[in-house]
Parts: sequence; C-alpha cells; structure tokens
Amino acid sequence: MSTLLAWQQALSDMITDPLDLLSTLDLSPADLPTEIITDSHFPLRVPKPFVARMQKGNPLDPLLLQVLPRAAEVIAKIGYTKDPLQELAANPIPGLLHKFHGRVLVTAAGSCAINCRYCFRQYFPYEENSISKERFQQIYSYIHNDESISEVILSGGEPLIVKDHKLAQWVHSLESIPHLQRLRIHTRLPIVIPDRINEELLQWIEQSRFQMILVIHCNHANEIDDAVIAKLQALKKIGVTLLNQSVLLKGINDHADTLIALSERLFAAGVLPYYLNLLDRVLGSSHFEVPETMAISLRNDMLQKLPGYLVPKFVRELAGAPNKMTI
Ligand SMILES: *Cc1c(COP(=O)(O)O)cnc(C)c1O
Ligand code: SF4
Repeated sequence: MSTLLAWQQALSDMITDPLDLLSTLDLSPADLPTEIITDSHFPLRVPKPFVARMQKGNPLDPLLLQVLPRAAEVIAKIGYTKDPLQELAANPIPGLLHKFHGRVLVTAAGSCAINCRYCFRQYFPYEENSISKERFQQIYSYIHNDESISEVILSGGEPLIVKDHKLAQWVHSLESIPHLQRLRIHTRLPIVIPDRINEELLQWIEQSRFQMILVIHCNHANEIDDAVIAKLQALKKIGVTLLNQSVLLKGINDHADTLIALSERLFAAGVLPYYLNLLDRVLGSSHFEVPETMAISLRNDMLQKLPGYLVPKFVRELAGAPNKMTI
C-alpha cells in the first residue's frame, strides 16, 4: 500500500510524454498547427488534475498550449536569454533573492508541479539553490540581520512541493524574527493539484502569527473549476489574503474577453487579480510574446468593462530595477 498523500500521488503520476498527453485529449500530432518536440531541456510535466480541465479535441486549448513543447521553442531570437532578469546577480546566498526593499524571495524548492513553457526560471540552477538545514540557517541569519525586511516570499520552483512538516518548521523558526510581519507564498499548486490544500497545510497556516498572503498563478478562467474554488475558499476562511498573478501569453489569454472572464472567475473564487506580467524574455519563449502596445490596449478594454479592483497591474520586470515596472 502506498503512503503517499493524494497530492503526492498526483505529482508522481504526471504525464511526461507529449504523445500521451495528446491521446488523452483525443488529438494526434497531425491535428496541431506546429510540430511538437520530445527532447526539450525542460521536459513536458503536467499533472492529471490539470489535464482534466483541458478540452478534448481542441488543439488550441489554452491550458494545453501552456505546457506542450512546440517546435517554436528551439528558434533562438535576439534579446531572449537564459537569465532574462539577471537573478543570479541578486542571489546573496544560495536560495535567497533580495532584489526589492523590504522583502526577500526564498527559492524554496528545486522543481515545479508543472512545467510551463514560458517559465523565466526554466534555466535557473535550482539544484544549487535547494534548502538544506545549513542553508536555512544562513537564510535565517541574513533575514535576522536586516531589519528592513518585513516580508518573506516563499517561491520557487514550487514552494508547496515541500512537505508540510518542513514548511511548518521553517515558518515557525522565521516567526522568532521580530521585524517579520508577513509571509507570502507564490504557488501554482492550488491550481494544478487542488488536493495540495489539505488539513496539514491549513493547520500551520492558521497557527502562524504572520499575516499570510497566497499568490496563485493562473492564466485562464478554464484553470479554475469547482475543486479549485473549494480549496481557495478553505484558505480564505482561515484569513489568508488571496491574490493572482498571470503572464500575458499570445494565443492563450491575449484577448480582452479572456482576461475579463479570468478576473471575474478569480473574484468568484475569492481571489483578487494582482499582476499581469508581460513575458520575461527567456530563451525559447518568443512565440508567447504580446507587444506592449497591445498590452496597453487590452488594459484599456479591461478598465472600461470592469471595476478597478478586477484589473490587475500590468507589469514588466526589468533586470536591476528596484521594483516591477507598471507599463
Ligand atoms: C517579484 C519579486 C518580488 C515581489 O515583488 P512584489 O512587487 O512585492 O510583488 C520580490 N522579490 C523578487 C526577487 C521578485 O522577483
Ligand atoms: S509554476 Fe511558475 S516557476 Fe513553475 S514552471 Fe510554471 S511559471 Fe515556472
């Protein structure tokens, strides 16, 4: 008998073969407008609960296109690099990024629960950044010694891939730093495998003295089904602030109606739109790029049709800038 929890089971039982994925969706490679690739440095990885939300028979399904390795990825384009945000330069100790005033980002896990084709961290050396006990001590000391830091962001990879007893330990330990007030978790797991929001997780979150913010990553309304909503409601019920960040992606969410539907659906699930990130120009992602002029016109459409709180901030990250830049 397996002792894996439901979410761990879903992680170990991912689809990793593009042809499997297509056949699950009643598609064949011939149905696609472009060729697929099967030997990417960043292989296909997608859990089944996410696949279940893809539309069968639709080669342009917005969830499918976020994960399917396509031939366009191997086209190199000027301006697209492996480390578009020059994060390696902001890595004072391994596992910790300190780019912005008042908050530090901890790369809490070495992998993700899904491989998104546009991911700007797809070349990030996570192995060198995983959090051992000694590493955690170094991170703890760094934060302890800098009173300007009031918020810790657990990010990734995917921070919630870490087991609850370890997360609870880290958080408990960080609680002894008096100048820390908030803990933020940047995660795609509540979307990808909603079962990740289980009793153990809710328990350590509820017990913490920190103000808790969970920033999910969702790009399309179809990613949010009833199971996702139920789990988000459980987080909301224990006082977690729920925000969403998306990436603006050509062919996936680059229409005003799609973005409006996403905001509406998020809010129905108790989540406020936070950021809509313009694509970070990571090598192999140029086919997802939406021009800035188009982004501005999308924002104007959203502003005309939605209450202000449902329009996310349209931002671009510039290497070396002191904050994310609103366009
Ligand atoms: C995005 C990011 C943050 C968070 O920025 P906010 O504007 O506070 O959401 C913090 N640190 C790093 C390194 C980041 O990339
Ligand atoms: S969930 Fe986030 S960090 Fe993980 S692959 Fe997707 S974009 Fe990258």
